Formats: sequence, C-alpha cells, structure tokens
Amino acid sequence: MSRSKGYAAMAAKAPLAPYTFERREPREHDVLIAIKYCGICHSDIHQSRDGWSDYLEESIFPMVPGHEIAGVVTAVGAKVTKYKVGDKVGVGCFVDSCRTCAPCKSGLEQYCSVRTVWTYNARDYEGVPTYGGYSDRIVVDENYVLRMPENLPLDACAPLLCAGITLYSPLRHWQAGPGKNVAIVGLGGLGQMGVKLAHALGAEVTVLSHSLKKQADGKRLGAAHFYATSDPETFTKLKGTFDLIINTVSAEMDWNEYLALLKLDGTMVVVGLPEKNIPVGAFALTGGRRSLAGSQIGGIQETQEMLNFCAKHGVTCDIEVIPIQKVNEAYERVVNGDVRYRFVIDMASL
Ligand SMILES: [Zn+2]
Ligand SMILES: [Zn+2]
Repeated sequence: MSRSKGYAAMAAKAPLAPYTFERREPREHDVLIAIKYCGICHSDIHQSRDGWSDYLEESIFPMVPGHEIAGVVTAVGAKVTKYKVGDKVGVGCFVDSCRTCAPCKSGLEQYCSVRTVWTYNARDYEGVPTYGGYSDRIVVDENYVLRMPENLPLDACAPLLCAGITLYSPLRHWQAGPGKNVAIVGLGGLGQMGVKLAHALGAEVTVLSHSLKKQADGKRLGAAHFYATSDPETFTKLKGTFDLIINTVSAEMDWNEYLALLKLDGTMVVVGLPEKNIPVGAFALTGGRRSLAGSQIGGIQETQEMLNFCAKHGVTCDIEVIPIQKVNEAYERVVNGDVRYRFVIDMASL
C-alpha cells in the first residue's frame, strides 16, 4: 500500500477537508500517476452531499471526489505496454469494468452490464472503495488510462475527461456535422464543451440559454445563434429547427417545449441529470417522429478519440485554476453558476 494525500468529505454534506488514505501498490498492468490537475464536476458536489442517494446503491464516506484527472506517469507495472514513466495521461469517470460483457467488448465500458467501477464513491471488483482525483496520486489499470494531448495545456484538458466526452459522445452518435442544425441547451461546464465540439465537428450551433447574459461568450465559443429561453418568442420562432438538441440542464424544465423545436426525425439527448422525473407527452414525440434519448459519458476508445480530436482542433475547456484549499468556496460558486466554465484544482497546492 502507498499513502496518498487528498481532500475528502468525511460525511454527507460535510465540507471537504485534508485526508490521508491508502492506495494499492501498482500491479502488473497498473500505472501510478502523479496527479497534476483535477477538474471539479457538478456530480462531485451532488455525490459528496449525498444528493443522488435515490439512484446509487450507497454513498461511501470518507469520499475523495474527482474524475477529471490529468497527470504524469511515475511508475508502471511489469506488464504495462501502453505507457511509460513521464507520459502525460488522464483518468475519467471510471477505472474498471467487467471486460467481458457485450458493451465492454464493443468499447462501451460506461454501459457495462455487470458493473462499471466509477473513479470514486464506488467499490472495485475486490470490494475496496475507490478514491478520486482530489489527491496527489492514483493507481489505475493501463486499459482505463487515456493519453493526454501533447500540444495543449494539461490543466485546460482535464475537464475533457468528463465534460468533454459527455458532449462528444452524443454529438458523434447522432452525427453532428456539416449541414446539421444543433442546439445546446444551457451554457455551463457541459454546454460550453458542447458548443466548441459541435462547432469543431462542422455543425451550425445554436445556444439556448436562460437569458442573453452569456451571448458574447457563446459566439466566441463557436455558436452561430443565441436565444434566451426566458423569452416565449424563442419557442415560437425556432419551432421545427433542429436536427439535434443536447440538453445539459439539470434543473427541472418542460422537455415538451424543447421537443417541439426538433425537425422531422430530430432527437433531443439528455445529458443533464434533474433529480426529479419530468413528464413527457406522447404528442411531443409522435408529431415529427421525434426521439428523446439519453447518453452517459463515453467508452475508453471514444474518449481517446475525443482527446485526439481536441488535440487536432485545439479544443480545450475554459477554466479557472484554484488551489485545493479553495475547493469548498468553488463548490458554492458552481452551485450558483458563478464560474466560466470549469474549476480545475492545481494539485501542487496540496
Ligand atoms: Zn463529471
Ligand atoms: Zn462489462
């Protein structure tokens, strides 16, 4: 075992505080990573405050959150072939899966039919709790490690590992590209990645945001159009406009209104996670043969494809770097929507 330093929530809703814990010694196929940066995802806040207790089997405290992990390899197991000491690597939302079910075999480990082992607040296949990236090091099987872009700053790439792939996967699956009208609902941490990625894929991008407050930003990120959803005119004007809508909002909203904005055969994909169920009327789907779908992050192969795409197109996340001592303050600011667009913890501050 090796001693690891980090920040943890010792109990549900408790503020994060310094915490020392054990990581396993690297096994034959493991990579030991010195963590340089870790993004703060809204789901870190939900989970450390036990907000998803209705959906998860258990919440495990003390909890070290963090699944947007970027760092450098400092040791490798005897049988590791993909990485060597000094490589810039990343770890996203999961660190293992069964490896034998149909989804795992098709590179869709995030939908493993046995159990995806999440990077924190989960147990590995031996029953040991997993601890995330708000810490100085992590040990991960090389098959669940990503190679980070060489040409881009490591801190601004950390959020690609959750926010980036959460948007890239549905954009690819529903074929966002030239000639396609794509709307991104909500311009937060997820939404800004959606605008940048959809634009880089060649689609015509529209932002649907609560107000016009972030309009200039939306255009800078690559949106061709920007509309306020607080203005009822927006829903009249944009009726039947989009091939694809990606909804990143986790607040409650009327999905039926948004479905009406789809063209014939259009799809709305939900990636935000409202805590309550939202009613959908059948007519919103049958008229225009519309689809309502969901999507959850992406597999290892697709995450690597996304990182390579970002390297090629110079896509990174807009970030604000903070020392780990400010993590609780950052959580409050995320909850209040006061960040453009992702906090990243500089682990040198530990
Ligand atoms: Zn996340
Ligand atoms: Zn599996």
